[in-house]
Order: sequence, then structure tokens, then C-alpha cells
Amino acid sequence: MTQRKVRVRFAPSPTGALHIGGVRTALYNYLFAKQNGGDLILRIEDTDSQRFVPGAEAYIIEALTWLGIHFDEGVGFGGNYGPYRQSERREIYKKYVDQLLEAGHAYIAFDTPQELEAKRKEIPNFQYDASTRMQMRNSLTLSPEETKALIDAGNQYVVRVKIEPNEDVHVHDLIRGEVVINSSILDDKVLYKSADQLPTYHLANIVDDHLMEVTHVIRGEEWLPSAPLHVLLYRYFGWADTMPQFAHLSLLLKPEGNGKLSKRDGDRLGFPVFPLEWHDPKTGDVSSGYRESGYLPEAVVNFLALLGWNPGNDQEVMSMDELIKAFNLAHCSKSGAKFDYEKGKWFNHQYIQRKDNKEIAALFMPILKEHGVEADPAYVEKVVGMMKDRVSFIKELWNVCAFFFVAPTEYDEKTRKKRWKEDSAAQLTEFIEVLRAHEPFDIESTENVAKAWIESKGYHLGNIMNATRLALVGEGKGPHIFDITEALGKEETIRRIQRAIDVLG
Ligand code: GLU
Repeated sequence: MTQRKVRVRFAPSPTGALHIGGVRTALYNYLFAKQNGGDLILRIEDTDSQRFVPGAEAYIIEALTWLGIHFDEGVGFGGNYGPYRQSERREIYKKYVDQLLEAGHAYIAFDTPQELEAKRKEIPNFQYDASTRMQMRNSLTLSPEETKALIDAGNQYVVRVKIEPNEDVHVHDLIRGEVVINSSILDDKVLYKSADQLPTYHLANIVDDHLMEVTHVIRGEEWLPSAPLHVLLYRYFGWADTMPQFAHLSLLLKPEGNGKLSKRDGDRLGFPVFPLEWHDPKTGDVSSGYRESGYLPEAVVNFLALLGWNPGNDQEVMSMDELIKAFNLAHCSKSGAKFDYEKGKWFNHQYIQRKDNKEIAALFMPILKEHGVEADPAYVEKVVGMMKDRVSFIKELWNVCAFFFVAPTEYDEKTRKKRWKEDSAAQLTEFIEVLRAHEPFDIESTENVAKAWIESKGYHLGNIMNATRLALVGEGKGPHIFDITEALGKEETIRRIQRAIDVLG
């Protein structure tokens, strides 16, 4: 067989906000596609009109775009295999339903919901399959004339796949190895419903994988039970030699490790489970998102990439390009990955450290503005360069460096008691004169001059530095004193020290 171009798809159903586990699935598809010089397709699986949620599709596209997960084809991206929204492909599916019916791999069933319910009561663990289908009202038990008459009379029906029992179906999974399932445990899934003239997920998903020439199906482990039907339908249609390879990703687990990560875990422990903030159009509920919570997209990508996969060494901080190079489906874990959201914060911290100060300053400017501060971008850049190692989120910068922008008007009581001594006012008054005479005002020379003066006077270095810090910051925290004086400049430094002398005496 000639080597086909790698083509993978992310195929969400627009039933709500995209869960962080779905984001990881999209990411792995992206990494795999790019690594292999292949294409990534965005297919919207919207055949279930009952579960359709307006806004969900736009949300998915916006979220993945924000994260830098780009599609080569699909809804919103164009391409030669469209349309990419399943609701726009009705005509296409009809033909394949007919093909299966003609070949005897599917049949028409008229059982009403009441009849099915009655059977479920009568037969324990009822399943519509080879063991029961001959007791039901379908085209296998009715004559062709009866079947036709029922359809012509306008009775609703479904088309079911006719699974041949007692056959081992082999699913080759790149993560799980060979998975063998006996066809007897599969049911005759509904492929098409006359009521809405739409195929179900099962048919549309598989037909589209074929028509879109998908080579690898990378998706969540909850879809593993659908894989045998994928294999069987490819065979029934005569497409077995282009069967995609499967890779079923393990679940994201609760931080405690027991059970699947849910939205409730996020609410309970205070972290987002969605990439972007989501406004539920039905309930009006608002769920927090990584973007609005202050995460950098690179950090989210890196964090998710390592939930269930590792590069085989202890490297953790990896750019998208590095991830593309290193990604390997065979290194994805078979067991679930605990959702360690603290690690997500750690990644955000790492990416803030690596980011250019200019970019961080640009992100911080709007927050300064919210606090009524209009600052010179170059000054903001200098301040964030000094302070960013103390934060995991841009918004935390305000807490740690507000004093660079707003002079203290009050002094922390505890620090004052401890740090402002009897002779602080007198000493700092002298210190002001030393500073005033000193030029330039850079870190090193100011520090040298201050220390020489303190030594010549026999003053206590710690006392003077602590009192100065209280004057400049308003409390006992902050970076190196002479980093602060240099940033604030001579005038502002002197003004603040003078004010402390006036207020604290
Ligand atoms: N529409 C399915 C979903 O919502 C896609 C499953 C698959 O990728 O085959 O996840």
C-alpha cells in the first residue's frame, strides 16, 4: 500500500463548551498532524439536533485559535472535502445508508418506543442484536411488500446495522495495542432516522472519516466502544484497506485521581475546566475559563500536552515546536492522568519568566489602568522585569508592585513598630542630603555611596535600609532597596523618604 498523507480530524459535537479534555484531544491531533507533515481537519458533528447548543461551534473555534491549534481544513477554514458540518451533508449520507441496505448489512426497523420498552421489560438486559432482531418489527421479519407499505403509509423507521455475531473484531490501537472484541456483544446500532432524515453519529462519523481520507483517529477513550463498529462498517462498505489507525487517549482524572474530571471538580477546587469563559445560553450560568483566569495560551498547551504523555525524559517546559518534534502516540499513557491544576499554575509562572518584559508590560498596562494608573510603558517594562519572578499570573503583578506606581500613604503598623527606630527620622534626614548630592542615581553607585556614608557615620546598616524600605514601599517587602531607588528616580525617592519622616516622626 502506498503511504497516504497523514490526515487527522478533531470532530466535536457542538453540545456546549469544549471541556479541557477535548482541548487536549485537539492538541494531540494537531501535534501528530504537524509532526507528520499532515493535515488537521475540524469537523462539526451536529447530527443530534436535540443536543445542539447555539454558540458552541464558535466557542470551539475561538478557544483553539487562542491556543494556537490551527486547522488546515474544516468549518471556518475551507478545504476540498467539505462541507465540514455534518448537518450540511445529509444527501451524502443517504447514499451510504442505501448501499448498506442493498448489501444486506443493514435493515429497516419500525419498532415504536413503546414496543421497545415492552421488550426491555420482557427480556432481561435486552439488546437489539442477532439474538433478538428476529422477534422485532423490521424488514428482516416483514415481507418486502409489508415493509414498503409501512414506509409508504408514512410510518417512521430507523435503519439499523446488521452485526454478524461470533466474530472477533480487531482494533489496532496505537496506545492500547491490539484490542479484540467479539461482535456478539455489539448491538445493531441505529444509523439513520427517518423522523429527522439524518444519520446518527455512528454512520456520519465513519462515512466522513472515509470521505475525508482520515488516516488516524485520535480521540478520547470513551469512544473506544465505537471502534469495532468503525472497523466493521469500513469492511461492509469495502474500504478495509484504508482503515484508519486508532489511538484512544486515556481520561483526565479528578485531581485526587478517582474518577473522571468534571466541571464540578473545577467549581469545588477553584480551577477552570474550560479554555474560555462560557456563558451557557440555556441556564445563563457562567463558567470560568483559562483565558479569563489569566493563563497564557503557551502555558495551557504545555500543561495539557504533559497530561497523559511525556517526552521520555524530564524536560517539562516545551514550546509548541518542541512538542511537535517530540510528540509520540506510543508514549501516551494507557491509564488516566490526574488533573494536577497546581502544575498548571507552575507552567504559567514558567512562561511568564520566559516571556519578553515588553509583552508582559503590555498585558499589565490594562490592569494598571483599572487601578487608575497611567504609566510610561518603558517604566512598566522595567518594573515587571524586576517583579515577574514573584507571580504566576499577570494580574498578581499589581499586588506585588503597586508601590512602584503609587506612593504609600499609609505604613504597615507591624513593620513600623519593628523597623522605624527612635533615630530613624534624624538619620533619614541626613540620608536625603547624601542622596540629593549623588549623581547619577544608578543601582551600584547609589548603593556604594549610601554604604560608605553609613560606615563613616557608624550607623547601623540594617536599621537605615529597613526604615528606607518602609518609606519607599509602605511595608517590609519588595526587591533590593537600590533597585527600587533607581526605578523610582531621585526626586520620587527623596519625596517618599521625606513623607515618611513627616508622618512617622
Ligand atoms: N463527535 C464525537 C465527539 O463529540 C467525536 C468522536 C470521534 O472523534 O470519533 O467527541
